[in-house]
Amino acid sequence: MDQGSPFDVVVIGGSFAGLSAAMQIARARRSVLVIDSGKPRNRFASHSHGFLAQDGKTPEEILTVARDQLFAYPTASLINETVMSARGEKDAFELSTSGNVVYAKRLIIAVGVSDQLPNLPGLKEKWGQGVLHCPYCHGYEIAGDRLGVFATSNIAAHQAHVVRDWGKVTVFLQDGFVFDADAQGELEKMGLPVEPVPLAGIEGEGRDISHVVLKDGRKVALDALFVAPQTEMSTPIATQLYCETTPGPLGDFITVDDWQATSVPGVFAAGDAASGWTNATIASAAGVQAGVAAHQSLLR
Ligand SMILES: Cc1cc2nc3c(=O)[nH]c(=O)nc-3n(C[C@H](O)[C@H](O)[C@H](O)COP(=O)(O)OP(=O)(O)OC[C@H]3O[C@@H](n4cnc5c(N)ncnc54)[C@H](O)[C@@H]3O)c2cc1C
Repeated sequence: MDQGSPFDVVVIGGSFAGLSAAMQIARARRSVLVIDSGKPRNRFASHSHGFLAQDGKTPEEILTVARDQLFAYPTASLINETVMSARGEKDAFELSTSGNVVYAKRLIIAVGVSDQLPNLPGLKEKWGQGVLHCPYCHGYEIAGDRLGVFATSNIAAHQAHVVRDWGKVTVFLQDGFVFDADAQGELEKMGLPVEPVPLAGIEGEGRDISHVVLKDGRKVALDALFVAPQTEMSTPIATQLYCETTPGPLGDFITVDDWQATSVPGVFAAGDAASGWTNATIASAAGVQAGVAAHQSLLR
């Protein structure tokens, strides 16, 4: 690989959004380099659901097939590293990884987000199996009468409203958290029980939940606990390039237009890093859009 001459496109992040973007560019016979640090957001989940034709596969199985198909194209290549810094402008971007400096005419940022899990004994260990955030991804498998929502912000009222379609829900509180009047009113309207004693921890075999423990020592049997963690951009690259961001209910994301173009000419973004509504299919679709847009911008 000649790292001195610029790639038509460098895609930062090689998961659902990034690989989908790169596929469009490779099929346009343009040079595309994917740089990926190998930490997709759903790596904690034993299985992925709802992705067309891949339901129930592990996240790694899906990405392995995607990588095999993409990197069979002669103009597509991959570096398994972390991009540490990005600078430059349209037609002349420069990226530094731990081992390489690469140049690009266009950039696609597809770095995802990282979940800021609340501090509760047992929660981190069970994230992606007993502790979940999305009923559309994992609700079918745990539907029933023993579901919980762990409220760390007012958005938990909305989450409880949705999750209750999969079973009987009890709302549990983070120590010190109090719903505002609107959220409280919403919960009362739905008739959802809110346990007033805060949670002290989660217990169960391995990554499964058998029960939660309240601060007063009582135990409540549960099959799954939902939580809506705040998210953070996985890397400061968008900021380094001066891309504008949009505040979302769970965290900031990169501002993009209908073509996934950011506020910076020549820089596109896709996936969880550039959307308030996150899901593998949506990330992949946005990646396709970003890939097509980046390619067409090379034609002008
Ligand atoms: C526990 C859990 C389970 C989920 N289950 C499902 C499900 O069943 N179905 C579903 O549709 N969605 C599910 N999701 C949501 C899904 O994981 C995301 O919507 C999807 O992964 C977003 O894809 P993405 O490509 O935008 O980002 P990611 O998949 O997060 O990938 C970003 C990639 O960029 C890389 N990266 C980050 N920074 C850098 C850098 N500086 N340099 C190089 N590479 C970098 C990362 O290592 C990673 O490989 C789940 C999420 C979680 C948290």
